[in-house]
Amino acid sequence: MWHASGMRIVVCVKHVPDAQSERRFEDGRMVRGEDDVLNELDENAVEAAVSLVEEHGGEAIALTMGPEDAEDALMRALQMGADRAVLVTDDRLAGSDVVTTAAVLAAAITRLGEEAPVDLVITGMASLDAMTSMLPAALATRLRLPLLGLAHALDVDPQSGVVEVSRSADGYEDRLRAAAPVVVSITDQLNEPRYPAFAAMKAARSKPLDQWGLDDLASTPGGADLAERIPATRVVEAHENARDGAGTIIADAGDAGVRLAQYLLEVVK
Ligand SMILES: Cc1cc2nc3c(=O)[nH]c(=O)nc-3n(C[C@H](O)[C@H](O)[C@H](O)COP(=O)(O)OP(=O)(O)OC[C@H]3O[C@@H](n4cnc5c(N)ncnc54)[C@H](O)[C@@H]3O)c2cc1C
Repeated sequence: MWHASGMRIVVCVKHVPDAQSERRFEDGRMVRGEDDVLNELDENAVEAAVSLVEEHGGEAIALTMGPEDAEDALMRALQMGADRAVLVTDDRLAGSDVVTTAAVLAAAITRLGEEAPVDLVITGMASLDAMTSMLPAALATRLRLPLLGLAHALDVDPQSGVVEVSRSADGYEDRLRAAAPVVVSITDQLNEPRYPAFAAMKAARSKPLDQWGLDDLASTPGGADLAERIPATRVVEAHENARDGAGTIIADAGDAGVRLAQYLLEVVK
């Protein structure tokens, strides 16, 4: 049974280089901080959290681990309706891998849980920079919570405290169920993220946005050794894949269909 005040949801979001903009690589690393945005797939996660709070009451807290300017991603989540936001930032976290990121986010969620119980942790299905899709499972493991992954439908029963999701995998459909607290990763098929109205953008500026460093998590269970962690995985090189030519463009002058067919016949010869 949720609390009288409704559900308490933490939604994890990542600040990533804008997939629409030109990505730059320097010294084999993806350049950040120039055109970064809220990870597009995390807009669906924020939408899911905000909608559940609108339906059942409670609080949606947006959480990110990243450099200082990752605040922009949180500001977007607040504009979309999150009630509060937390940025975990610390120079000692630069270059963190998935395992370290999961450990830091788990400590931050545990600290939030010390204020009041957290019922649901929602993540997107992948970041659009690294795209490992490993974080949700690594986070659930650190929190010792069940993971309901890649959900395209999400239902919560406030009476029983049960969470159910549907997901599709390779031509068949799963329906999964677990008792809260639980970690859920959602796909972009779950909802259509809202576009915040001007009033919501203004209101977001006065919503609480806390900034924590590793020292703020040191006394939290699982937080003591975060500063000593050495990433097991390091990105040693990254580069844009070469695109081979612009491809063939068939401008339609009423005969595009025929010319496309001719082109395909050529190609398959
Ligand atoms: C090009 C590149 C390749 C990388 N490859 C690896 C690798 O192979 N192995 C490895 O261990 N690390 C790797 N990293 C580091 C990894 O990106 C970070 O640790 C990252 O924070 C978590 O992994 P992800 O971006 O793949 O997340 P994913 O697992 O793809 O993200 C799933 C969801 O987790 C949440 N999430 C992810 N990151 C954060 C965050 N920082 N704060 C809050 N929520 C978050 C979001 O909701 C997101 O939708 C790579 C980074 C880059 C740039």
